[in-house]
Parts: sequence; structure tokens; C-alpha cells
Amino acid sequence: MRAAVLSSHGVDGLDVVEHPDPAPAPGEVLVRVETVGVNQLDLNVIAGRGPGAAAKLPRVLGLDAAGVVVAVGRGVDPARLGEPVVVKPNIACGACAACARGREADCPAQTVVGVHRDGGAAELVAVPAKNALARGGIPAAIATAAVHSLPIVLNAIETAGVVAGDRVLVTGAGGTLGRAATALAAHFGAEVVAASRSSLEASELPEGVTSIAATDASALRAQLAERHPAGFDVVIDVSGHGPTLGAGVAALAWGGRAVFCAAVSDRTLELDTLEFYLRRKRLIGVASADYAQVRRALDLVASGAVAPLVGVRHPLAEIGRAYRGFADSPPGKVIIDVS
Ligand SMILES: [Zn+2]
Repeated sequence: MRAAVLSSHGVDGLDVVEHPDPAPAPGEVLVRVETVGVNQLDLNVIAGRGPGAAAKLPRVLGLDAAGVVVAVGRGVDPARLGEPVVVKPNIACGACAACARGREADCPAQTVVGVHRDGGAAELVAVPAKNALARGGIPAAIATAAVHSLPIVLNAIETAGVVAGDRVLVTGAGGTLGRAATALAAHFGAEVVAASRSSLEASELPEGVTSIAATDASALRAQLAERHPAGFDVVIDVSGHGPTLGAGVAALAWGGRAVFCAAVSDRTLELDTLEFYLRRKRLIGVASADYAQVRRALDLVASGAVAPLVGVRHPLAEIGRAYRGFADSPPGKVIIDVS
């Protein structure tokens, strides 16, 4: 099969080459891939840094493939052959206390497709059967755009306990995760303010969402204090930027919850600890999702409640170009068309 194989760190170490076909182990399915996404985590794998440092090379990249089941391993229902599926990248261990509670997002032993094992930037990928979720009539590119980002922000929203009428601030709202968080919070009836570095077009935002453009964290802090003095019930930060999270925590109302869910570019977080304590604030980290949340996220897509935005598309042969241009790509999920 053709596969995007990283054989040494750096984008120059990535090549689309002939690679042996994977075979499904017991409990796994083999998926013929149609699409896979380009993710920040791939760039960490390519650079060999942060959570990407766990990848042993050579490694086939690709977290969030969508395609069709073409073979099943021992113990998997053969009725799944021909099923359109999308791959949930995080594989829970299935044996720990978090997994036993159905909180697989909190499993400390989870591994990731395309990091700890070969991924789906290839014509074929083998994954545990439980990680290949039925996507029904959702087109492959839409399922790829949804499966990684949407469940993470759904987890953030559910963990924060967002209910209709809550005032919710999304920071980092211009990116893929931010757009998903904004759309979901609005869908659940929250009063949403979307904050980003550059101004977002009203036409890009769900109805009723207002936006704030602030070039840095101190400008954001000042604008929030001036325009929203009552504060927010929930802040969802997907900026990956400590000072921005700090501005969000400062803008929380009494009993407010801040959820942080993005790989960090600036790890410094300054907190007014006395105010944090006296105003009963909470700060929560969310980095993946439970299987049930992935299912719920796909159901929201299937019902039309949220529509993931597909951005630039590249053929598999040009995946290197997709990674080189990732930082400057226009809004929407960058998709690799494998077949
Ligand atoms: Zn576990």
C-alpha cells in the first residue's frame, strides 16, 4: 500500500512510499482509508517534541482516518465488513479505573493512532474494532473533520456542565477546536462570546454569538473586564496559550469553570489565587473524549446540529505540502484525500 511514512524527524523525513499492508490483529478491523486529517499532533510527531515524542520511527502518520471496513480480526463480528467508519484516535486501555467508569478520556494509559502505532495517512490502517465508529451516511471528509476536535470540545462543555442560558467565553475561537466549541456551546443554548486574535466575520459565527478580537492576552483581559463585567459561567480555552487562559480565568464569574483543551505553546499561567479561591472558581484540563462522547458528537453531525468546516484538501502524495502550509492554511479542517 501507499503510506506517508516518517523515517526521521523533520518534514523532510516524511515520504509517501510503498509500505507493507497492515493485518488486523484479534479484536481489530482493517479500514480502507478515504480521508485523514492534518493535526497539530502530527507536527509534534514530525518534530519529535511534546506528546509527539512518544512515536517510534519509522511511523505511518495520521490520527483521524475515515473509510470502510475491509477485513476483521479474530473475535470481530464479520457483519462489520463494508461498514463506513471513522477512527477515534485515542485508544483507551480498557482495564483501568477510569475505563471501568466509562471515562476513557481520563485513562492514563491511552495510546494514539498515528503516534504509538501506525496511523491512517495510508491506503489501509488496522485499529481496535471499538475505535472504528460507524459513521452511517456522514461523508468521509466530514467525519474526519469531526472525530477528533468535536468530541474534545463536547467533553469540555459537558465537564463544565454548560446549560442553556450560561454565559460562555471561547478563547482561540478562530481555529478548528474553537469553531467547534463555539458551534456546540451555541447549539446547547449558551450565550457565547468568541474571542480570537483577528476579528471573526459575523457570517462565520452561529446566530447570536458575539465576537471579540484582541491581539494579545492583556488586550483581551481589558476588553473582557470592560464589556463583560459580570463575568462568564464557563470559559473554554483552546488557544493553547497560558496568558490567554489566565485572562479567561480572570473573567470567570462566581463559581465559574475554565476548561483548558489545547496543546500549549506558552506554558506560563498566572492566577490571582486569592480571587480564584474566594470566587469558587474551577480549572479543568481536557485532552480527549470518552467513546460515548464521540458517538454523541457524530450523532450531532448526522442530525445537522453542527457542521464541521472542511478546509483545504490535498492528495496523499502532497501530504508534505499540507504540513508545511498548515500554520497558514485558511479556516477549516485540512483534509488528505487518500483514495
Ligand atoms: Zn484505561
